[in-house]
Amino acid sequence: MAALDPRRILTAADTDPGRVRTENQDRCAEFEATDGARLVVVADGMGGHDAGGLASRVAVETIGEVFRTRSGPAEELLRQAFAEANVRVHEMGAKEPHGMGTTAVAVLLRSDGAWLANVGDSRVYRWRSGSLERLTEDHSWVFQEVAQGRMTREEAATHPRRNALLRSIGMDEEIPADVGPVELLPGDRILLCSDGLWDELDDAALSHTLAEPEPAACVRRLIELANRAGGQDNITAAVIRLLETPQRRGHRLAWTAIAALLVIISIARWCGT
Ligand code: CA
Repeated sequence: MAALDPRRILTAADTDPGRVRTENQDRCAEFEATDGARLVVVADGMGGHDAGGLASRVAVETIGEVFRTRSGPAEELLRQAFAEANVRVHEMGAKEPHGMGTTAVAVLLRSDGAWLANVGDSRVYRWRSGSLERLTEDHSWVFQEVAQGRMTREEAATHPRRNALLRSIGMDEEIPADVGPVELLPGDRILLCSDGLWDELDDAALSHTLAEPEPAACVRRLIELANRAGGQDNITAAVIRLLETPQRRGHRLAWTAIAALLVIISIARWCGT
C-alpha cells in the first residue's frame, strides 16, 4: 500500500433532499483523527417516520466514533466500525414497528494508504485521468441478477425491485461489510454517493463532472445535475481529491518554462532573419 500524505487531500461532501421527497434520510460526514487520518462516510437510510434518517445518522456517528477513538490495522478498524454500527441500528430497529436500516460506504485515508468499506447500494467510484471505475458492488437483488446473467443492466435500472437490498446495516444481528484497499495516485478523485445520485446520472455524466478539480464545486454540480435529471430520491455526494505532489508540479512548471523559452528563441531567430 503506497504512502499517502493526508495534508495533500481535499474533500467535500453534501446532501440534498431532491425534488420529490420531503425528508432527507441520507447522511454524510467527514472525520479527522489527531494524526491527520481522514474518514469520509455516506449512508442512505430506510424506514418510515424518519426511522431511516435515524438509522443513517446513528450509523455515520458510530462509524466515525470507532475511527476517532481506536487504532489498529485499517481493515480491522473498518470492520469493527461497521459491525458496531450494525449492532446499534439493529437494536433500534427491533423497537421500530416497520424496522429500519441503512446503507453505508466509507473511505479511510491514512499515511499508510486508503481503504473502503461497503454495505448496501451506495457506491464508491475512482476517477483517474478521465476514466471512471466503480470500486464497490451493490448488495442488491438486481445487481446479483445482472452479475449472474439473468437480467441486463438496462432491465435492472427500471425493475420494480431495484431498491431491494440483500445486505443493509441493521438488517440482521451480523452483517458483513466488504472491506478492501484503494490504490490512489496523485490527481485521482474518489466519489462516494447514494443511489439518488447514481440512479439519476450515468457514468459519462459522473466522469465529466469529476474532471472539475475543486471538490466543493464538483459536489455542488453533481447534486444540481441529479436534481435537474429528476431528483426522485435524496442525493448525496462526497468527493476526495488527491493533490499532485509539489515535486511533480515543480517538474511541470520547469517543462513549461523550457517550452516557453524555446518558443521565444524561435521567434527571436525568425525575427532576426
Ligand atoms: Ca436512496
